[in-house]
Amino acid sequence: MQVDILTLFPQMFQSPFSVGIFQRAIDQKLVSINFHDIRHYTYDKHHTVDDYVYGGGAGMVLKPEPVFEAVESIKSDIKSGDSVLPIILLTPQGRLFCQEIAQELSTYRNLILICGHYEGVDERVREHLVTDEISIGDYVLSGGELAAMVVIDAVVRLMPGVLGSEASLLDDSHVSGLLEYPQYTGPPLYRGWSVPQVLLSGNHAQIAKWRREQAILRTLERRPELLDKANLCSDEKRLVDHLLTTGSL
Ligand code: SAH
Repeated sequence: MQVDILTLFPQMFQSPFSVGIFQRAIDQKLVSINFHDIRHYTYDKHHTVDDYVYGGGAGMVLKPEPVFEAVESIKSDIKSGDSVLPIILLTPQGRLFCQEIAQELSTYRNLILICGHYEGVDERVREHLVTDEISIGDYVLSGGELAAMVVIDAVVRLMPGVLGSEASLLDDSHVSGLLEYPQYTGPPLYRGWSVPQVLLSGNHAQIAKWRREQAILRTLERRPELLDKANLCSDEKRLVDHLLTTGSL
């Protein structure tokens, strides 16, 4: 996958992508991430990227010309076989980012992400350039950079070969529609707190059953609305009803 990011602050991206799984994914050429300084696509002496809002009001808005030119330049360099090339604007007005969208984006060969700043981006970018708009939550950040990092992080870890153990992905919270079960590591007894006996039993069927029940219980306690969309079998649905009436396993 090749990700092209348009930003006013390319330096913000340096450290997150130079450690851990990203560094490895980049070294192994599973993903390449290119940063494009929007300022490079300006032609005046001061490299102006923003301007006052028409109609009045506080703050500055990113001008359309450098954003259009940057995207067009990147597009002309991409020899993508994909018929759709997502051009994504990070904005608090976009569709709310979630695991399903991360999954969807992980199937593309190329992604272009546009990070806004100041008061936002000239509306014509949204109307005539981007193919998608993504928000990472119902709050306002000062720029799209952190949002882009969140999106890329969630997408890249889903790509084959990026994480060490692919199987662990399936149990992750939000992947199966449930929150993940509790996890423990050594020591088995710490400050008097012990690891649940079943996890030390070596009985894989029992462990799988316990984990599934814990995932359901945890989801019910913390995010009950997720259960409506989770893929539960009839026994598990009965378990949820039991938990709802008795409050315990
Ligand atoms: N005035 C705009 C917000 C601008 S915030 C509005 O009310 O809609 C400045 C920039 O930060 C945006 O252009 C966007 O790129 C980014 N940003 C802010 N909050 C965001 C969020 N929740 N998700 C994704 N990007 C966000």
